[in-house]
Amino acid sequence: MTEEKKQVTTDIVIIGGGTAGLTAAIYAVRAGKQVIVLEAKAYGGQIVNTPDIENYPGLAHVSGYDFATGLYQQAIDLGARFRYERALGIREDDEGKIVETRKREYHCKAVILATGAKNRTLGIEREEELTGKGVSYCATCDGSFFKGQDVAVNGGGNTALEDALYLADICNRVYLIHRRDQFRGDAADVEKLKQKNNVEFVLNSNVTGLIGSDKLTAVEVTDKISGEKRELPVSGLFVAIGQVPDNKAFADEVDLAPAGYIEAGEDCATRTPGIFTAGDCRTKTVRQLTTAAADGAVAALAACRYIGA
Ligand code: NAP
Repeated sequence: MTEEKKQVTTDIVIIGGGTAGLTAAIYAVRAGKQVIVLEAKAYGGQIVNTPDIENYPGLAHVSGYDFATGLYQQAIDLGARFRYERALGIREDDEGKIVETRKREYHCKAVILATGAKNRTLGIEREEELTGKGVSYCATCDGSFFKGQDVAVNGGGNTALEDALYLADICNRVYLIHRRDQFRGDAADVEKLKQKNNVEFVLNSNVTGLIGSDKLTAVEVTDKISGEKRELPVSGLFVAIGQVPDNKAFADEVDLAPAGYIEAGEDCATRTPGIFTAGDCRTKTVRQLTTAAADGAVAALAACRYIGA
């Protein structure tokens, strides 16, 4: 016999407890709405993994963890309810929307999808096997295990640059491997890395092999121009090659771009009235903490307007 799901009623369900979702929660509760945030993993989203944020207006330096914790606490203190549950899908009835999780059905008037994105993997042999045995996707979480050792960071965006800066301060040597010779991330961070005498840039190169029997001892990189292969003797590889969204569960209610992002403009509205989207999970050109927070505010106020007084 299948167990009856518990029924819960609220005004707004926010799916995702990262910067966009928590900001939306703050705005919606301050507008007098009942809010439940559903989060499958941990509060804070991707920013928790950033060692040092230097580009959030008004906060010259803050760790991703402190930033996320402050945001979470602010939302909770204001009255948002946080539930560690994965949203499995959304359907509609005469009353509004129903967000389903494994154990509950959340009946609400509006939904904000703030699902963010997850780490892209290299997709090479032994990556899964060596994850946690030298291969990591989070320098803040795992960097301290590699104190005084030689490590590599792969990627050319802000995450890779910030990871390399953080690791350069605690590790013996840091190889920054990037597939091009131009960086996508901030030029200021590239300059800082150039000033470090223990950082080596390995450009126009891809990680093509992971070496080591039970834990990582070296990575193989292949120069894209010359085809030359080289082994870098490292005990840690921090993969920071971007994110991929995961919005398949909501594909019946919202349009998804080919890469999987939710189609929405700056108004954060999706094709379904009452379903809004905010942050890195939507189609946009700039994915930053500031734009995630901005989206959270826009989506929450739009949801409040949709619901009415
Ligand atoms: P990102 O900006 O998308 O950069 C990903 C990097 O990985 C790019 O340099 C890309 O190379 C490379 N890459 C992608 N696929 C690859 C593959 N299969 N093999 C090798 N290299 C690959 O990702 P991110 O650095 O994680 O940042 C995500 C978003 O968060 C960005 O908008 C970023 O600005 C933002 N962010 C902001 C902060 C902050 O505000 N402090 C901190 C961290 C991240 P190409 O350049 O050649 O495409």
